[in-house]
Amino acid sequence: MIGTVYKSTGSWYTVKAGDGQFYECRIKGKFRIKGIKSTNPVAVGDQVHFELEDKGEQNVGVIHSIVDRKNYIIRKSVNLSKQTHIIAANLDQVFLLITLNNPTTYTIFIDRFLVTAEAYDIPVVLVFNKIDTYSEEEIDEIKFLAALYRDIGYTCVGISAKTGKNVDKIKEMMIGKTSMFSGHSGVGKSTLINAIEPNLEIKTAEISQQHLQGQHTTTFAEMFDLSFGARIIDTPGIKGFGIVDMEREEIGDYFPEFFNLKHTCKFNNCIHLDEPKCGVKEALEEGKVSWSRYRSYLQMISGEEENYRMDAYGEKK
Ligand code: GDP
Ligand code: ZN
Repeated sequence: MIGTVYKSTGSWYTVKAGDGQFYECRIKGKFRIKGIKSTNPVAVGDQVHFELEDKGEQNVGVIHSIVDRKNYIIRKSVNLSKQTHIIAANLDQVFLLITLNNPTTYTIFIDRFLVTAEAYDIPVVLVFNKIDTYSEEEIDEIKFLAALYRDIGYTCVGISAKTGKNVDKIKEMMIGKTSMFSGHSGVGKSTLINAIEPNLEIKTAEISQQHLQGQHTTTFAEMFDLSFGARIIDTPGIKGFGIVDMEREEIGDYFPEFFNLKHTCKFNNCIHLDEPKCGVKEALEEGKVSWSRYRSYLQMISGEEENYRMDAYGEKK
């Protein structure tokens, strides 16, 4: 049988099969995925092949293989420093909630998040929340930001999770897909999820830092079916969206508008700093590339990040 992993607790996996039934499965055999040393071989969102156990127990199975992932996000394992923990696999999109103030979402945070998502190959929708609270100038600022990111190719939408404005647009984008919600604490993730599906009882509240540090706990993601044919992955206690190790030379490739101009740079290994005849810097001077994006880029390649390990949240790694 084939199914999708909805939940895992370390040794047991809850798998939903095509017949809509849930099965509690264990793993048999080794699952080594090239290039990643992970503490969990199977993650929420994985598609797995499994067989029912014939010991008389109902709805209990054994996973024997996983289908190639289209993407996955990882965090460093809480337990073993050299290992990673796969948070989730096969995401269709991430909604990044942004508020101008209360709390402030800085463009460097948005850009780091987008770079990480590009590296993971996960589409991001930028959701400007709390539009019911902004002054005219603030609305203009949001329009400016939305236009900037739309030009690059990102979908942007302004909503109010509180009044329900444009929440239907988010729902529409979610149909038939697996989504995740991200953004700083207080931007309105729980409020939005509640507006989307009022009776979903998920524990969006973050597990206290003390709890995370005090014990060697590993928190697990969980997937939920929504009533309108969508799925969300909730990651309680996991603040970050995931970490990516990248080379300094790679970072510019995850800025789509820089990547598209790369062929106009004189040197094919141009990193758009002080090189002569750099297409990105020329576009910047002409106003075709945004200064705030370029500033974020400079900050990212300046080496402040240890080994260019990216995580938009700046969580301790
Ligand atoms: P989370 O930490 O991202 O889950 O944020 P919450 O959903 O807990 O929201 C934080 C606060 O912002 C709560 O007091 C919400 O009522 C409020 N809030 C969320 N969305 C909106 C919105 O669209 N408009 C207004 N005015 N307040 C909102
Ligand atoms: Zn260049």
